[in-house]
Amino acid sequence: MSAGDQPADASGLERVQTLEEGAAAGCVFCKIMLGKLPCKRVPADPPDGPGGDAWIINDLHPAAPVHWLAMPALHLPRVSSASDEQAYMLGRLFLALASAARRQGLSDYRLIVNNGVGAGQTVPHLHVHLLAGTTMGERLV
Ligand SMILES: [Zn+2]
Repeated sequence: MSAGDQPADASGLERVQTLEEGAAAGCVFCKIMLGKLPCKRVPADPPDGPGGDAWIINDLHPAAPVHWLAMPALHLPRVSSASDEQAYMLGRLFLALASAARRQGLSDYRLIVNNGVGAGQTVPHLHVHLLAGTTMGERLV
């Protein structure tokens, strides 16, 4: 096991689960998508294929004037938890963000995915950050 790998916890959150299973294990994003916690949802195009539903919400603690989070409507802990079956779902996250950004008139933005606690992932449900509304330099960290 490398430093970036984490063992599956007792709840089994390292595998894909339904929103109900994720929420029962304490996942904040699953609870949001089930309507159990409030959020400010960003309009996104509906999915055009099975398993492609992507939610986009405003980050509660924005790191830029525009800070969205796109997440799949299934509990997938992180990128390294994905398999080939989730390829369409992963692609939908980026396309949904691009579409939502166009709607909002955003042309330049940064997309970030943190994989694991050591990389700064604070919610163990795969999500893509979109940051915009300010000029960002070339440095990533
Ligand atoms: Zn979840």
